[in-house]
Order: sequence, then structure tokens, then C-alpha cells
Amino acid sequence: MICPKCKEQTGNGFPCSRCGFNPETSKWVIIARVYPPNDVIIESLLRSYEIPAKFIREAIGTVQGLSIGPLAEVKIAVPEEIASETAEIIKSYDDEP
Ligand SMILES: [Zn+2]
Repeated sequence: MICPKCKEQTGNGFPCSRCGFNPETSKWVIIARVYPPNDVIIESLLRSYEIPAKFIREAIGTVQGLSIGPLAEVKIAVPEEIASETAEIIKSYDDEP
């Protein structure tokens, strides 16, 4: 696969044989908050870049014990080594008309 940090082939996954990048040991930072259905679109966008992102889905509130699904905020977390470039990708998507 392609390393999201140095853009080189990592061989058999992580850690990267060139730059040592390893999402397993990285510090993960939240770079964006989105709302459905944009979370699904951005998730597939980041996957197309082979960026290891985590989508943390939390309900904002509850009504009688049920989470409010459609309004739930989704936090996007990525390893901090690639946080700024991933934020740029999301921002460029957001800027599209
Ligand atoms: Zn690398």
C-alpha cells in the first residue's frame, strides 16, 4: 500500500519502511467535525487517498434514551503526522460548490 505520509510504497503495511510512519503508534488528532451525509462522502474521499482516518460517531443528545441519529456529529481523527494535509483535502472538498 501507499504510505500517506511519504507517498511511497510501504511494502507489507506499517510501519513504513521509508519514513517509519505507523498509525498504530501515532498520536491521533481530531481535524474536522462533519454532519451526515457528508461524513460518508468524506470517508470515501479519504479512503481514495489511502488515508487512515477514524470516524468517531457520537450522538449530540438523547431523547428518551434514543440517540438522535441524523443530527449526530461525526469527528474525523487522523495521525497527527498527516493532520494538516488531510485537513486540506477536507477543506478543498468543502470549498467545492
Ligand atoms: Zn512513509
